Amino acid sequence: MNTETDSKCRLCQQFDDTIDHIISACTILAKEQYMKRHDRVCAQLHFNICKETGVQLDKKHWYEHVPKSVETSQGGKVTILWNQQVQTDRTISNSKPDIIIRDNEKGTCMLIDVAIQETEM
Ligand SMILES: [Zn+2]
Repeated sequence: MNTETDSKCRLCQQFDDTIDHIISACTILAKEQYMKRHDRVCAQLHFNICKETGVQLDKKHWYEHVPKSVETSQGGKVTILWNQQVQTDRTISNSKPDIIIRDNEKGTCMLIDVAIQETEM
Protein backbone atom coordinates (compact mmCIF):
# COMPACT_ATOMS: atom_id res chain seq x y z
CA MET A 1 0.00 0.00 0.00
CA ASN A 2 3.03 2.17 -0.52
CA THR A 3 3.62 2.70 3.18
CA GLU A 4 6.76 2.18 5.17
CA THR A 5 6.34 -0.46 7.82
CA ASP A 6 8.81 -1.39 10.47
CA SER A 7 9.13 -5.16 10.82
CA LYS A 8 10.64 -4.89 14.30
CA CYS A 9 8.75 -5.82 17.47
CA ARG A 10 6.83 -2.80 18.81
CA LEU A 11 7.79 -3.61 22.37
CA CYS A 12 11.52 -4.33 22.33
CA GLN A 13 12.35 -2.97 18.85
CA GLN A 14 15.22 -5.44 18.68
CA PHE A 15 13.92 -8.41 16.73
CA ASP A 16 11.49 -9.06 13.90
CA ASP A 17 7.85 -9.12 14.94
CA THR A 18 7.29 -12.84 14.30
CA ILE A 19 4.86 -15.18 16.06
CA ASP A 20 7.78 -17.05 17.65
CA HIS A 21 9.17 -13.80 18.97
CA ILE A 22 5.87 -12.68 20.50
CA ILE A 23 4.96 -15.99 22.14
CA SER A 24 8.33 -16.77 23.68
CA ALA A 25 11.33 -14.60 22.92
CA CYS A 26 10.55 -10.93 23.56
CA THR A 27 12.66 -9.51 26.37
CA ILE A 28 9.94 -7.03 27.33
CA LEU A 29 7.22 -9.69 27.57
CA ALA A 30 9.59 -12.05 29.38
CA LYS A 31 9.65 -9.81 32.45
CA GLU A 32 6.00 -10.35 33.29
CA GLN A 33 3.74 -11.87 30.64
CA TYR A 34 5.50 -15.25 30.32
CA MET A 35 5.34 -15.69 34.09
CA LYS A 36 1.62 -14.86 34.04
CA ARG A 37 1.09 -17.44 31.30
CA HIS A 38 2.98 -20.07 33.33
CA ASP A 39 0.86 -19.26 36.40
CA ARG A 40 -2.40 -19.50 34.43
CA VAL A 41 -1.38 -22.89 33.00
CA CYS A 42 -0.64 -24.07 36.56
CA ALA A 43 -3.94 -22.70 37.85
CA GLN A 44 -5.88 -24.59 35.18
CA LEU A 45 -3.95 -27.77 35.95
CA HIS A 46 -4.62 -27.26 39.67
CA PHE A 47 -8.34 -26.76 38.97
CA ASN A 48 -8.53 -30.00 36.97
CA ILE A 49 -6.60 -31.98 39.59
CA CYS A 50 -8.95 -30.67 42.30
CA LYS A 51 -11.97 -31.70 40.22
CA GLU A 52 -10.54 -35.18 39.55
CA THR A 53 -9.62 -35.84 43.17
CA GLY A 54 -12.88 -34.61 44.68
CA VAL A 55 -11.80 -31.30 46.19
CA GLN A 56 -14.72 -28.95 46.76
CA LEU A 57 -14.27 -25.94 44.46
CA ASP A 58 -15.71 -22.45 44.90
CA LYS A 59 -15.72 -21.61 41.19
CA LYS A 60 -17.34 -23.36 38.26
CA HIS A 61 -14.71 -22.42 35.64
CA TRP A 62 -10.93 -22.84 35.69
CA TYR A 63 -10.32 -19.21 34.68
CA GLU A 64 -12.05 -18.01 37.86
CA HIS A 65 -10.10 -20.47 40.02
CA VAL A 66 -7.56 -19.05 42.48
CA PRO A 67 -5.51 -21.93 43.91
CA LYS A 68 -5.16 -22.15 47.69
CA SER A 69 -1.87 -23.25 49.31
CA VAL A 70 -3.47 -26.44 50.63
CA GLU A 71 -6.56 -28.27 49.41
CA THR A 72 -7.89 -31.55 50.74
CA SER A 73 -10.27 -33.86 48.95
CA GLN A 74 -13.57 -34.80 50.55
CA GLY A 75 -12.77 -37.68 52.90
CA GLY A 76 -9.14 -36.59 53.14
CA LYS A 77 -7.67 -39.16 50.74
CA VAL A 78 -5.68 -36.59 48.77
CA THR A 79 -3.95 -33.32 49.71
CA ILE A 80 -2.96 -30.87 47.00
CA LEU A 81 -0.26 -28.32 47.72
CA TRP A 82 0.24 -25.20 45.63
CA ASN A 83 3.68 -23.61 45.34
CA GLN A 84 4.97 -25.06 48.61
CA GLN A 85 8.58 -25.55 49.67
CA VAL A 86 9.70 -29.19 49.99
CA GLN A 87 12.12 -30.08 52.80
CA THR A 88 15.15 -31.92 51.50
CA ASP A 89 18.34 -33.39 53.04
CA ARG A 90 20.56 -31.37 50.71
CA THR A 91 20.18 -27.80 49.48
CA ILE A 92 18.35 -27.87 46.18
CA SER A 93 18.00 -24.62 44.23
CA ASN A 94 14.47 -25.37 43.06
CA SER A 95 12.65 -27.16 45.86
CA LYS A 96 9.30 -25.47 45.28
CA PRO A 97 7.32 -27.43 42.70
CA ASP A 98 4.19 -25.82 41.27
CA ILE A 99 1.85 -28.55 42.49
CA ILE A 100 2.25 -31.53 44.85
CA ILE A 101 -0.40 -34.24 44.94
CA ARG A 102 -0.12 -36.26 48.14
CA ASP A 103 -1.93 -39.57 48.42
CA ASN A 104 -2.57 -39.72 52.17
CA GLU A 105 -3.47 -43.43 52.15
CA LYS A 106 -0.38 -44.65 50.30
CA GLY A 107 1.88 -41.92 51.73
CA THR A 108 3.19 -41.02 48.29
CA CYS A 109 3.59 -37.68 46.53
CA MET A 110 3.55 -36.62 42.91
CA LEU A 111 5.48 -33.43 42.20
CA ILE A 112 4.48 -31.33 39.21
CA ASP A 113 6.62 -28.53 37.85
CA VAL A 114 5.34 -26.79 34.74
CA ALA A 115 7.67 -25.41 32.08
CA ILE A 116 6.48 -23.59 28.99
CA GLN A 117 8.78 -24.39 26.11
CA GLU A 118 10.46 -21.44 24.48
CA THR A 119 11.25 -21.45 20.82
CA GLU A 120 14.55 -20.22 19.46
CA MET A 121 14.90 -16.61 18.39
ZN1 LIG B 1 10.00 -7.92 21.31
